[in-house]
Amino acid sequence: MNFFHFRGGELYCEDVPVRTIADKVGTPFYLYSASTIKRHVRVFAEAFSGIDHLVCYSVKANSNLAVLRLMAGMGTGADIVSGGELHRAMKAGIDPSRIVFSGVGKTAREMELALEAGILMFNVESGEELQTLARVACSLGKTAPVAMRVNPDVDPKTHPYISTGLKKNKFGIPVTEALALYRQAAELDGIRVAGIDCHIGSQLTTSDPFGEAVMRLMDLIEKIEGEGIPIRYLDIGGGLGIIYDKESPPLPADYAETVLKALGNGNRTLILEPGRVIVGNSGILVTKVLYRKKGATKNFVIVDAAMNDLIRPSLYEAYQKIVPVRESDETREITDVVGPICESGDFLGRDLRLAIPEKGELLAVMSAGAYGFSMSSQYNSRPRAAEVMVMDSRFEIVRERETYEDLIRGERFFEE
Ligand SMILES: *Cc1c(COP(=O)(O)O)cnc(C)c1O
Repeated sequence: MNFFHFRGGELYCEDVPVRTIADKVGTPFYLYSASTIKRHVRVFAEAFSGIDHLVCYSVKANSNLAVLRLMAGMGTGADIVSGGELHRAMKAGIDPSRIVFSGVGKTAREMELALEAGILMFNVESGEELQTLARVACSLGKTAPVAMRVNPDVDPKTHPYISTGLKKNKFGIPVTEALALYRQAAELDGIRVAGIDCHIGSQLTTSDPFGEAVMRLMDLIEKIEGEGIPIRYLDIGGGLGIIYDKESPPLPADYAETVLKALGNGNRTLILEPGRVIVGNSGILVTKVLYRKKGATKNFVIVDAAMNDLIRPSLYEAYQKIVPVRESDETREITDVVGPICESGDFLGRDLRLAIPEKGELLAVMSAGAYGFSMSSQYNSRPRAAEVMVMDSRFEIVRERETYEDLIRGERFFEE
């Protein structure tokens, strides 16, 4: 459930008309509903209330400071994948003892920063990474708590670009090699084994692959603990899907039930790294119609947002619902909604059934709160969009629209 809804034919975010914000802020802009984000965090955490657990919000889904601040306020931890995300999480006041660090390519410098901060755990993805981490930790006189990210080789049945737990993916350590690496880790100076981790993919719409992954991890835990290496944390990653169109993903409670069933008992803390399910349907992208035109075979609605603002449609062929901010009873036609960028791949929607809006009308790209702004760029020298947050009847700009000066910051001429 989210707090975007129509009242008197106008789209509202909580108690604020989207149009009012557009008049004030200009377009395009991302719009986040704080009450929706908080609700999603609450519902997700409640699903696991029966057991010892920690929710580490996946920062890469939406890393705006105001979003992270909501997480901090609710006592939520963070799953980070870079030094930059660590910086953001700390700035927002997220407790470092609730931060886990994922990713296949952590640099020594990033490891240092995370060790200095005192994060909960590094999710290690290779033997070489483990060696580097041990060396960095020793040089700081610290001990790095680690989990091995295991690749359980289960098919998440999602888009190939966002499946991560198959043998052929770059992520994690093969199940067959994990035990040997745990033995090594247990002996290494500067390393303390804390847990085990996996993350099998994103936008999963069934629970079964999660259950399957947890079972494979449980088998492995038995072997590892059998060698006297205790596993305190079981991190099962993120990946729970959301409704963009006609998907029917499990509710957090169903997801929890599947996971808990596979988990059995044991004195462990479960770590969860949800991203999309928290913020995906908590945000929209608001854009203005610049022009309409009829191509030889189809209609085009040209808007002022583009693939640099929201790349999911071009990158993953992802469907994002697009609705007029003012409800229309015009007959619907098949149309593409495209941006101004000089690429044929620059579309927000293709072959949509939409009442062709007037020039100057506002459109809302729904379900854009996750992997929207955080994947945006300045391609075609387009300043990145503003971000706005609403709570009840109040709205604030939480990131200014970039300026042309922002585009060239740090650049200089090369003197011949
Ligand atoms: C991206 C990612 C997540 C979050 O995935 P969602 O599908 O947004 O829930 C969690 N953990 C890791 C390691 C990730 O890479």
